[in-house]
Amino acid sequence: MDKKVIIADQINEKGIDDLKEVAEVVVNTSITQEELINQIKDFDAIIVRSRTKVTREVIMAADKLKIIARAGVGVDNVDVEAATERGIMVVNAPESTSITVAEHAMGLIMALSRKISIADKSVKEGKWEKSRFMGIELAGKTLGIIGMGRIGSQVASRCKAFAMDILVNDPYITEEVASKLGARVVDKETLLKNADVITIHVPLTPETKHSISKREFDIMKETAFIINCARGGIINEDDLYDALKSGKIGGAGLDVFEAEPPEGSPLLELDNLVATPHIGASTKEAQRDAAIIVANEVKKVFMGEAPKNVLNMPVLDPETFQAIKPYLKLSEKLANFLIQAAKGNITEVDITYCGELADFSRNDILTRTVLKEMLNSVLTEPVNMINAPSMAKKRGIVITESKRSEAEGYKSLIKVKIKSDDGEMSIEGTAVEEPRIVRIDEYWVNVKPEGTMVIARYKDIPGSIGTIGTKLGEHGINIAKMQVGRQEAGGEAVMVLTVDQKVPAEVIEETRALEHVYDAVYVQL
Ligand code: NAD
Repeated sequence: MDKKVIIADQINEKGIDDLKEVAEVVVNTSITQEELINQIKDFDAIIVRSRTKVTREVIMAADKLKIIARAGVGVDNVDVEAATERGIMVVNAPESTSITVAEHAMGLIMALSRKISIADKSVKEGKWEKSRFMGIELAGKTLGIIGMGRIGSQVASRCKAFAMDILVNDPYITEEVASKLGARVVDKETLLKNADVITIHVPLTPETKHSISKREFDIMKETAFIINCARGGIINEDDLYDALKSGKIGGAGLDVFEAEPPEGSPLLELDNLVATPHIGASTKEAQRDAAIIVANEVKKVFMGEAPKNVLNMPVLDPETFQAIKPYLKLSEKLANFLIQAAKGNITEVDITYCGELADFSRNDILTRTVLKEMLNSVLTEPVNMINAPSMAKKRGIVITESKRSEAEGYKSLIKVKIKSDDGEMSIEGTAVEEPRIVRIDEYWVNVKPEGTMVIARYKDIPGSIGTIGTKLGEHGINIAKMQVGRQEAGGEAVMVLTVDQKVPAEVIEETRALEHVYDAVYVQL
């Protein structure tokens, strides 16, 4: 066998056996950093968990390394940038823990609904308090899933088997995808108001941080249970304490905390809280699956096939890379702008390459960049240049690409249009020296896509611009630049304000409510 793999951390035997079919496998789970730097030149692949650090130094010392595989999810211990520079693929196994975490969420739901952990404690204290532990049946109750990705979907199918009705809040999945899982897509308020059990499966992002706070607890049923097996910080723990203590909600099951361990947290004194020490992903099966998945990825690379979970970009020849570079940046900006500015569940993404770009042979890279950026901002699973189109398709998003030789006087333009169940929005940009947004829907503008921006649609009559400026001023938000686009005087117009501060959601709400303002959104690039 001419291929050589080093397994530098302990992984499940099944993964090692799979690899032995195609390569010479060296297992050295106590290898030091120095030894690794000296020996890495002999290997075509390295498999690690979290102990071994695949640093820049290791990567630079490698001669024939093609793939670095992390048998798990996080790749903090791998210098992905250095690997990309050397054209080495980095892969992981993001799907290995989904079932395991979903089962843990089920465990917390059961523990709460039948008061299992406090009943267990009571029996072990020699008591027999049957009437204290009256529970609830799950059949016929409503489950609310916030975030219907890999784990959320697994929870849905399990709760379906418990005869629960399932509501989902996930702005990035379509009704069709949800209904296949027997769930109904609703807005967050409807979910909070109607669910008996609410389970969170979203990534921790600026948008989801403290997205379950006092306001949300106030909407929930007094008997509601809330489960968090996602990430600490999504629930505001002070507000959760108040809600549990005052009986505003029925109970909570937490596998994750803002600070881990949650030393001294008053939450731990409450009987209606069930806590576990971030063990959602800790099963032998998840570890075995991670090993099998990465072994399979390494095998694929050895056989010249494309692996599924590549975290870095496919290598382009230097000439193509130079030609495409400004448009890569532009594609990223356009995607990030649209995903923040558009509303509703995305159903379609249309990308048009205009002018000289229409003749460029690798526009697929730009399309992948747009999809990667859009999906990456909403998914935990790393979306990369390779899996972006299939991830979009899996989520029911239709992608269309077209070309137009005409570019409205520019050398090249990229137009990206998003259709959602709430309407559509388009944006066009060019990149002569640096990216520029030149059109938002039908309005021509000229905006440098960076920093913090407020985009407002309003009626183009005297005073409209002033009212919006005054509203922002009232909240101490300074306007650095303003761009206005309109089709005709007195009609609808769009305004892009580059501002010096972050704009809180309440200020956007107030701006939206102003007379003659049709809509306002906040975008941070
Ligand atoms: P995923 O990327 O497959 O799914 C996340 C879902 O959340 C997506 O469907 C996305 O559209 C949705 N989403 C994003 N922002 C949203 C918002 N503001 N409102 C509603 N929905 C939104 O991720 P996954 O693999 O299912 O993981 C979900 C969570 O579980 C992550 O936070 C992950 O870190 C966590 N996790 C925890 C453990 C553990 O040990 N407890 C283990 C693995 C993963």
